[in-house]
Amino acid sequence: MPAGSPTLLAIHAHPDDESSKGAATVAAAAARGIRCVLITATGGEAGDILNPAMHRDEVRDNLAEYRAKELAEAAAIIGYSEVIELGYRDSGMPDTPDNANPEALANATFDEVLGRVVAEVRRVRPAVMLGYDSHERYPHPDHLYVHRLGLAAFDAAADAERFPDAGEPWAVDRLLAPVFTVRRVRALHDAAVADDLVSPFADWIDTADAAYDHGKHLIAVPVAHTMAIAREALRAHRTQVDPDGFWFSLPLDLAVAAYPYEDFEVLVARVPLPDGADDLFG
Ligand SMILES: [Zn+2]
Repeated sequence: MPAGSPTLLAIHAHPDDESSKGAATVAAAAARGIRCVLITATGGEAGDILNPAMHRDEVRDNLAEYRAKELAEAAAIIGYSEVIELGYRDSGMPDTPDNANPEALANATFDEVLGRVVAEVRRVRPAVMLGYDSHERYPHPDHLYVHRLGLAAFDAAADAERFPDAGEPWAVDRLLAPVFTVRRVRALHDAAVADDLVSPFADWIDTADAAYDHGKHLIAVPVAHTMAIAREALRAHRTQVDPDGFWFSLPLDLAVAAYPYEDFEVLVARVPLPDGADDLFG
């Protein structure tokens, strides 16, 4: 890796998460020459087919293959230069057959998965890692797993005594999580209502805990110029994303005007961000 060329490593649970969480920020980083590498933990086999146009037996029977192709396409649109698929099975929701499958991520030995991620961190040598927050609002087992994995990999990759056969230790500067803050959802909701549109966030606003944003180290990254790229990447997930559904229910220009940022929570940092930072790299 050439000196002065920072790298970002994002860990996501399923194909499509890389496009719905922080994609405009990664696209902006890639556009300015930052190497961006993606780890996707599962194949997304338990996902619901949410696009009516894709409700076909052939799609259902080959969902993992479809999702792998969609992931490759979306990652290229965002600007990832490498995609690492760990190949675990989607764990589905608790008390489902998917969740009991021995190949599911949720049933994998944590240290085995961690060792593989640590090896990638030490090979890729990122300054910034993206993982997940504590996910109290969407407790999917795979997302909770990735939350633990990001934090554990941040520590273990730098520790010479952990996984000594997985490469030279590497200390990542900081680990952040893309988050849906109340301030963002409220701004989008208010803009929809002001424009006489049906807000896709009406239920969310009703149940949002106003205290969610408080006490967290949040940064807002300006992404007006790459929000269109994030939508294009999401659209590549044809089986998972209804082009007339939730993610596209607000016109792009309205979303850009209402909240032209993506929010991130700083989970842990060896090199803290300066006050008022609006960039993952400081
Ligand atoms: Zn997911």
